[in-house]
Amino acid sequence: MAFKSEYLQKVYDKVCQRNKGEEEFLQAVKEVLESFEPVVEKRPDIVKAGIIDRLVEPERFIQFRVPWVDDNGNVQVNRGFRVQFNSAIGPYKGGLRFHPTVCASVIKFLGFEQIFKNSLTGLPIGGGKGGSDFDPKGKSDAEVMRFCQSFMTELSKHIGADTDVPAGDIGVGAREIGFMYGQYKRLRNEFTGVLTGKGLSYGGSLARTEATGYGLCYFTDEMLKSMKNESFKGKTVVISGSGNVAIYATQKATELGGKVVALSDSNGYIYDENGINLDVVKQIKEVERGRIKEYADRVPGSVYTEGKGIWSIKCDIALPCATQNELNGDDADMLIKNGVIAVAEGANMPSTPEAVEKFLAAGIMFGPAKAANAGGVATSALEMSQNSERLSWTFEEVDAKLKNIMINIFHNSYNASKEYGLEGNLVAGANIAGFAKVADAMMWQGVSY
Ligand code: NDP
Repeated sequence: MAFKSEYLQKVYDKVCQRNKGEEEFLQAVKEVLESFEPVVEKRPDIVKAGIIDRLVEPERFIQFRVPWVDDNGNVQVNRGFRVQFNSAIGPYKGGLRFHPTVCASVIKFLGFEQIFKNSLTGLPIGGGKGGSDFDPKGKSDAEVMRFCQSFMTELSKHIGADTDVPAGDIGVGAREIGFMYGQYKRLRNEFTGVLTGKGLSYGGSLARTEATGYGLCYFTDEMLKSMKNESFKGKTVVISGSGNVAIYATQKATELGGKVVALSDSNGYIYDENGINLDVVKQIKEVERGRIKEYADRVPGSVYTEGKGIWSIKCDIALPCATQNELNGDDADMLIKNGVIAVAEGANMPSTPEAVEKFLAAGIMFGPAKAANAGGVATSALEMSQNSERLSWTFEEVDAKLKNIMINIFHNSYNASKEYGLEGNLVAGANIAGFAKVADAMMWQGVSY
């Protein structure tokens, strides 16, 4: 039996039976249910109301065909998804991912995690997620536009500023959001805040682009300070990925006094002992949409290595910012052996359960994704507020709110870990703190027959 509580075991068995073969989703549910052991002991009312039984089943799961025509005139067909997981505390909110690995399991794991993450922000947003197995890499702008328009033609039937507000994620940045927003507006004839991550000229929020990476560093800084009286100052930092989250985590970690020495993509990683030159990375990734390998051609003294292996680099702080399950038990062993003091997750579920266990057992400060990377969705919620008010806040205003939110998330997670006898275990603390508000809202709203 994986669980001490018979009740949780029963819930988990049913999830396994209903979602056969959906590995990522089952992994995410198991991790969350494990942290509910002390909750079900302390709160029989939650068990009686069937809150957890309801929580693990999405309110709605939409799958659709996305046909489009490529530049050669050939018809292509992709698969689109949106999971509307939980709306107890607000409209569904969560990104859209365009990547060949996207499938029902990945979307459901991300949507499930999003419930707790969104609740932790303290803002009124429910949990959702979506995407497609479409791969924007190597496609022309015109192809990406036709795909986005086709995708939105169906998705528009299911979303709305007060119903479900998608954002970006892997493979979905400002370009894709713009094409989708344009199509939504054409179809519905309304200018509303139905998507976040929009361009600044049509309702986007300042600091949204930077928010996840910045927020990750604000969270990590607070964790370092509160748990070990430490900071980024003088620390060597390794960050995986080289997309939106990795780039702005690099910027903030550097501003806070750290030295970021490595970044990666799905082909390999670069090491620069002098500290990453972010202008070069931005030019390659944001302007030219190139590969990280090109960094080594442009910056003397830096080295590119093909393949996995970024976690073998010695560092004090590790920030995985690429994708799920990119850091396994062996990687954790290497990081611990090399003296890592803190790991915080910018990506969603980047550490395998084995890796997380090793970090916690070794007393490494560990910031789980749903707490550490919540800055993106929090700022998306701030974009929603600005859209509703038809106002724009300054960069400094948004950044200050973001910082405050991340500090609160750390303390709420830490305090919950203490309250339930697991002091310092932020995995459990974040799950429990995120769950509390959702459970309460579900109680008040009753069961609909
Ligand atoms: P981007 O598409 O901008 O960048 C993704 C980066 O991760 C790229 O460097 C990419 O390399 C790498 N990557 C993707 N898949 C793999 C893989 N299978 N193996 C190795 N590397 C891979 O995405 P984001 O930066 O927006 O997202 C990164 C992570 O952060 C995701 O887990 C996402 O869910 C999470 N996140 C993002 C938020 C946001 O606001 N953007 C908010 C909260 C979480 P390559 O180019 O080779 O594919």
